[in-house]
Amino acid sequence: AAARLAPVSPTPRLDAEVLAMRVCGLNRTALVARGDTPLGAEQQRALDAALARRAAGEPVAYITGEREFWSMTLRVTPDTLIPRPETELLVEQALARLPGNARATIADLGTGSGAIALAIARERPACRVIATDRSAAALAVARANAARLRIDNVEFREGKWLAPLAGLRLDMIVSNPPYVRDDDPHLAEGDVRFEPAAALAGGAAGLDAIREITAAARDRLADGGRLLLEHGPDQGPALRALLAAFGYREITSVRDLAGHERVTLAQSKNHIFALRG
Ligand code: GLN
Repeated sequence: AAARLAPVSPTPRLDAEVLAMRVCGLNRTALVARGDTPLGAEQQRALDAALARRAAGEPVAYITGEREFWSMTLRVTPDTLIPRPETELLVEQALARLPGNARATIADLGTGSGAIALAIARERPACRVIATDRSAAALAVARANAARLRIDNVEFREGKWLAPLAGLRLDMIVSNPPYVRDDDPHLAEGDVRFEPAAALAGGAAGLDAIREITAAARDRLADGGRLLLEHGPDQGPALRALLAAFGYREITSVRDLAGHERVTLAQSKNHIFALRG
């Protein structure tokens, strides 16, 4: 199976194992332990079908219908982006600013499968998390994930970015918006070809959604409330300049495990602080 995937996948052995685990209903340990047991005819057919899809370029997560994020197994479909490991940095940074007993109101914009919202809601059970997405199909996946994981301090609202949040005062807004440049050749290669373009492409400089969110978030954040955004590895300086221009303070970028600036966070202007100069 790995040999069959080698021409199309950068991780043929891993892909083959994950697909075989799925088809056989075994975890990795069991797959290794029983690795020389012949497949049944039905399993062989299912594995062949899965390998054919992967060989045609389809991401493993869309074939198995799931992906791990923050130690949760999440359903994913072609209506949702496949959660990336680097997005766990956004969750970590959010949690670092929320004490364990925090009762904050938090929004996740463009939630997709619900990954970020569910991770934060699960780790901070006293917080209220509101996740938005303009895709009804994505929200259905996110709602199903919340139900399956029995996470009930999260609600889902349909609409673009902050549009469904009128009237709310938020202590924190997080988002992994589309930030890839429209002309980035990476969009025409590999797994991302199968993902929703609206979750990836962010305009000529990749900053359209980020600019829109940064502008609108000012009016929804409580005084001193925080905005945390994931972005591309070369977009840190642009993000910091944008946030400064919109009057945010305490602007910092954080690097991911690969050493790239990946998350930038800022605080809304605190009025008391501002009045005192
Ligand atoms: N990191 C993703 C990629 O490069 C992009 C995710 C996003 O645009 N939010 O494929």
